[in-house]
Amino acid sequence: MSGDLLRLSGLSLTYPNGTTALDGVDLRVAEGEFLSLLGPSGCGKSSILRLVAGLMTPTGGTVDWVRPLARGDIGFVFQEPTLMPWARIIDNVRLPLDLAGVARAEADERAADGLRRVGLGDFLRAFPRELSGGMKMRAALARALVTRPRLLLLDEPFAALDEITRLKLNDDLLAFWGRERFTAVFVTHSVFESVYLSGRIAVMGPRPGRVAAQMDVDLPYPRDLPVRTGAAYGAICREVSERLHLAMGEAA
Ligand code: ADP
Ligand code: MG
Repeated sequence: MSGDLLRLSGLSLTYPNGTTALDGVDLRVAEGEFLSLLGPSGCGKSSILRLVAGLMTPTGGTVDWVRPLARGDIGFVFQEPTLMPWARIIDNVRLPLDLAGVARAEADERAADGLRRVGLGDFLRAFPRELSGGMKMRAALARALVTRPRLLLLDEPFAALDEITRLKLNDDLLAFWGRERFTAVFVTHSVFESVYLSGRIAVMGPRPGRVAAQMDVDLPYPRDLPVRTGAAYGAICREVSERLHLAMGEAA
């Protein structure tokens, strides 16, 4: 494994209303890895992503980048696709490039290319309302990847989708990651999803959040149906479930 992309040290966050969401999170993210943050609702997963993205300032501790960040180095995907309903899909996906001042023709080409890579090449001129939930999420992925970020932050992106669509998008996300070599930090409360996707899992306990356990997922990539239905996958899911259960108890 290559070096670290970033390190969280003693990261703490108390919101202005007095809620302490995070209390001493220590975590390293390696360049190129697929890391999941797994924990119960309210344990501070989204707060960690917001701190990493620089959308908030911690009340304690630090987020240290090993190399300085450039514009467009972070992509963010939320549970809701957050597409602008009045704009065509290609215009939605082009937005980060427009904001970065990329010339229109180049931005159009890159947005179209990104949409083709997520399988939406036939829907460039469609409006969000014409797309299924899974397709909207693909468009959101294309938008997050259009600046070719070094780090992709995903906050329960597939939680609102039906299971069949969700499994398909898991595979597609892994395919993008395998091809484009960004670092992924994926937030989920699903043990099965975290094991299927990740090379490493950070298990969090209930609020105030901290990392209770870190586990390597010793399964080969690319992952596919035989991996998902295999004994090794089942055994790791069981182990991760046990760690999560322990983490839940420790904080009680
Ligand atoms: P998760 O993503 O794991 O569900 P969050 O990071 O969203 O957790 O929230 C962690 C805790 O911080 C929760 O108890 C939540 O209610 C609280 N919280 C989140 N955002 C705010 C906010 N803006 N103001 C006050 N409390 C908040
Ligand atoms: Mg959340």
